[in-house]
Amino acid sequence: MTTEGLSINSPVTQLLSYIGIESRRNGYQYWKDNQYAMHDCTCMGESWGFVWFRTSGCIQERRGSCIYCKYGTGPFFNDEQIIDGFKAALSGITKNYDFLFASSSGSLLDIREVSQDVYLNYLELLSLTDHNSFGFETRCETISSERIRQTQEKLGGRLRQVFMGLEIANESILKYCLNKQQNLDRFAGAIKILANEGVSSCVNVLVGIPFYSIEERIQLSFESVKWAFDNEAYRVFLFPINVKDHTPLSFLFGSKLYSPPSLWEMIEVMKLFPDKIDEKKIGISWYRPHKDVPGIIHSPITCRKCNADVLNLLDKYDKNPQFSYIQQLSNIECSCKNKWNEDKSALKCFSVDYLMESYQELSKRWDKTNSYYIANHESIRNELKAMEKKLKGYK
Ligand code: SF4
Ligand SMILES: [Zn+2]
Repeated sequence: MTTEGLSINSPVTQLLSYIGIESRRNGYQYWKDNQYAMHDCTCMGESWGFVWFRTSGCIQERRGSCIYCKYGTGPFFNDEQIIDGFKAALSGITKNYDFLFASSSGSLLDIREVSQDVYLNYLELLSLTDHNSFGFETRCETISSERIRQTQEKLGGRLRQVFMGLEIANESILKYCLNKQQNLDRFAGAIKILANEGVSSCVNVLVGIPFYSIEERIQLSFESVKWAFDNEAYRVFLFPINVKDHTPLSFLFGSKLYSPPSLWEMIEVMKLFPDKIDEKKIGISWYRPHKDVPGIIHSPITCRKCNADVLNLLDKYDKNPQFSYIQQLSNIECSCKNKWNEDKSALKCFSVDYLMESYQELSKRWDKTNSYYIANHESIRNELKAMEKKLKGYK
């Protein structure tokens, strides 16, 4: 098993990153055949457009990070090809939006993915449009005052929101359960930089973290939303995990080592917030099956009987967030909800043994000889044991 080019700081990261690379190796590459993707919606009474343009993809995904993610690494594209893709995307837009999210297929401010030349072209092209405001997605460590200031200047002050994936506000869970290296101080620093430049931070929080029981997952998502607001995030979006093929998580799902979230789980997280937080500050994303997005093998649902009613109320909340919709959602009675309530206590809680078993199965699937796991499982177990308290979510 080769690990060349990986940023490795522990046997666990080495193992999970190798598996992350191997599992994605033969997956469908959307960006090979498409220059951009787009959709639009109404959000809080405003028209929002979304455009993603092709690049070679997120550097972290190339390195095998983030066991759930397949945002879409592509083949190598040069600057000209990337700019052409963005121009094509813009020419596909037929109206002026209140807010246009225009981002690369990874992290817009990562200079290794979007060169400075491409970025300046991107700003120039956006500045010539008449959309009211703009936003994009990028990892927290790519944010600096200089770049945000430069962006605001070029866009005439129309940069309004920047989206960042927090996922979960626990560095140990990020590292050992998701294989995402993320420093929370840095994340909080990025929120501050954006606020100082007059830009709103939108923070994505996952619902359905692997290796935890449903009750633990609800609590972890809830605490992560609180963490984001304690650190002055402008808005938080709940992201129930959609399982994507050719990811380590899809294998865990197929092996019954991961149980994806039902929409009831997201609703339960939302129910914890009334009275404490302005509902306009909590958004929801990816709660509807996206039939047009290739590679999603499981989306969060409830059941055939109640799914239409649940989605209808979630759509209403999405368009105009009000806790009365959450109340109505929580009043829905259905046998699938009863079953979900039973599962809530039936699913395994977090334990080092559960995580070790999952690592071992992942390793057997992608490392034919399983030699790395066999040689390192003692040190991996010791590392997890040392982190056990933090992994259980204790401060
Ligand atoms: S979750 Fe974000 S950082 Fe991780 S691979 Fe996906 S796009 Fe990259
Ligand atoms: Zn139901």
